[in-house]
Amino acid sequence: MSKAHRGKGVRELVKSGRGVCPLCKRTAIKVVFEQEFDGKKAVICKQCKSAVAKGKMKEAIAAL
Ligand SMILES: [Zn+2]
Repeated sequence: MSKAHRGKGVRELVKSGRGVCPLCKRTAIKVVFEQEFDGKKAVICKQCKSAVAKGKMKEAIAAL
């Protein structure tokens, strides 16, 4: 069950899991990480997941 977001696992997703991240608005980025914000679930990119874990991106989360 490891590496669920790499290789074969991600290739079966639509466009290999790529799209626009709702937080950073980057396009053509892998948007595969589920994150809950105050009960709301969003799928975000790796960079945002890391930023959220460090307590950043609060404004972007509020705009979701
Ligand atoms: Zn992002």
